Amino acid sequence: MKSTIKRKTYAAIYRLLDRVSPLSEDCGTLCQAACCTCGGDSSTENGLDFDMGIYLLPGEEKLFTRKETWLKWSVENAEDYDFPDSWYGKIYFVRCNCAPHCPREKRPLQCRFFPLAPHLTDEDELVLIHSDAELPYTCPLISKNVELTPSFLKATYTVWKRLIQDPLIYDLVKWDSCIREEISIMYQK
Ligand code: SF4
Ligand code: SF4
Repeated sequence: MKSTIKRKTYAAIYRLLDRVSPLSEDCGTLCQAACCTCGGDSSTENGLDFDMGIYLLPGEEKLFTRKETWLKWSVENAEDYDFPDSWYGKIYFVRCNCAPHCPREKRPLQCRFFPLAPHLTDEDELVLIHSDAELPYTCPLISKNVELTPSFLKATYTVWKRLIQDPLIYDLVKWDSCIREEISIMYQK
């Protein structure tokens, strides 16, 4: 898929998000890093659950060599998954095999945003909500509605504001937003 976001823009986004965290302390201590370790199931290939793969946003793959030993790659067709009609062709899924100790500065964007997700209102205003993805674990930041650091909220919003300038990413956020019946806004400008 053709991304309008350049590699250097993704690199700048990674640097911005490197500086923030959902909490001032490591939230992984609240849940034994549930969002990182939930894919470890010995009944699955190499002890990793394929369904728990993380998809990269269009163009994000430019930040990787695909030789990273801590990641397993899968190249799929977007048409075979639940993505907007404008998404067709290659999409990259990764699964980490070193959880929860990945190189922090290399974490994919989906890891960095969690537990937040973008939402576009009927007026096309960007807001942040808690992720409503179906997950096999409970994130205490969501279930206990823990207050997130202002720096994390602001940086995540800034990044999504930039990302939705890309038509494919806009379509994805709009498509996800249209399915939701009600939302609870965690951050808005
Ligand atoms: S984001 Fe949620 S599930 Fe993941 S480590 Fe932090 S508290 Fe645990
Ligand atoms: S890449 Fe890192 S942050 Fe993301 S799920 Fe794996 S261990 Fe967790």
